[in-house]
Formats: sequence, structure tokens, C-alpha cells
Amino acid sequence: MKKGKLIVISGPSGVGKDTVVKELLKNNDNFELSISMTSREKRLNEQDKVDYYFVSKEKFEKEIENNNLLEWAKYNDNYYGTPKKEIEKRINNNINVFLVIEVVGGMNIKKMLKDDALLIFLLPPDFKELRNRIVNRNLDNEENINKRLKIAEEEIKVSKKYDYVVVNDDLNKTVKEIENIIKKELK
Ligand code: ADP
Ligand code: 5GP
Repeated sequence: MKKGKLIVISGPSGVGKDTVVKELLKNNDNFELSISMTSREKRLNEQDKVDYYFVSKEKFEKEIENNNLLEWAKYNDNYYGTPKKEIEKRINNNINVFLVIEVVGGMNIKKMLKDDALLIFLLPPDFKELRNRIVNRNLDNEENINKRLKIAEEEIKVSKKYDYVVVNDDLNKTVKEIENIIKKELK
């Protein structure tokens, strides 16, 4: 039986990854989103087991030890990882799975899965707009915003290793562009 593929969506914090993936999921039946595990604190607008599996640092380290994660990375002093159980069954049932993850995780997926993964990097139109989006989202304090923007500069350097780079300027256009990429690549 045909297997599903992993579609990695990366890009700096605030570029619009979650927004874009939400739109993609609305229009496409055989796509699902992998829920990651993290040791970061839950934000006010987030729900456990919906946005992330929120766990302690110790529990996360146990999950690494037990080999329960397909990939994991540290971002801004917190752990983030993809539980294997989010992936295996779906792939075997020919469901394509979106992974919204940072670049270390993205590169590890590429190394592990080669052509069985499609990697797409979202870029902001410019840094001013990226800051505006993070500020307007209203979920991070000033210190965190500056840290995220600093990490963004490093992440953008890795974008050239991705299969596709898409500038998320107009949301509808971005969604269409990614749908076209997926159609072409997942024939
Ligand atoms: P990420 O998941 O990459 O951290 P979000 O999806 O949370 O980013 O988006 C950050 C903010 O930017 C949100 O307030 C969202 O509504 C806004 N946003 C997303 N895409 C666009 C776009 N194309 N144009 C303008 N604002 C956008
Ligand atoms: P946030 O704190 O904004 O939710 O996420 C911070 C960063 O961690 C984002 O770039 C997000 O895509 C990434 N991330 C979320 N889940 C995972 C995961 O399972 N693995 C990896 N490697 N990164 C993740």
C-alpha cells in the first residue's frame, strides 16, 4: 500500500506557520497535523494535547531516553520533539502529516527520510513585518521577542537547504503556492 509523506514546515517564529497549516488542513482531507511534545510553558491561549503535549523537562528527557521521539531539538532553552506515535500509524495508512518544526529538526528529518519527506521553509516579507507579526500576536514579552528574532536570523540561513522556500506575504497566495508544491511533489 502507498505510504503517506511527511511535510515539514519551518520558518522563524511569527512568520505564520500555524496560520498557513491551519488553512492547508481545511482544504485537504488526507492531511493531518502532528502534535509535538514540548517542555515550554503553556501560553494562555493554548490547550494541552491540542497545541502541544506539554510536559516537564524531566518527562521530555525520559521520552528521549526511551526512543519515543522521531526527532527533537532545543529552541530558546526548551525541548521540542515529534512523538513517533503521531506519525507511524498515519504514514502507514497513506495519510500525509504536517510537521511544524524548527530547522534542526527539519534537517534531521531530511537526513532520516530523504525523498519521503518534503521540506518547505516560510520566509517573512522582511524583518520589520516579522517583528510586527510577533508583537501583534501578543503572546511573547519583549525579551522573548528579541530572542526569537535573533534565532530567526540563524534559521533563515538554513532555508537554502530546504526543498522549497515560500515568502508568506499574502496569506491566500501562500496557501495556494504550497498546495501547488504539494500537488506536484506528491503525485
Ligand atoms: P508561527 O506559527 O510561525 O509562529 P503564527 O501562525 O502564529 O506564526 O502567525 C503569527 C501572526 O502573524 C499571527 O497573528 C497571524 O495571524 C499573522 N499572520 C500569519 N500569516 C500572515 C500573513 N500572510 N499576513 C499577515 N499576517 C499574518
Ligand atoms: P513555539 O514556542 O513558538 O511554539 O515553537 C518554537 C519553535 O519550535 C518553532 O519554530 C516551532 O516550529 C518549533 N517546534 C515545534 N514543535 C517542534 C518539534 O516537534 N520538533 C522541533 N524540532 N521543533 C518544533
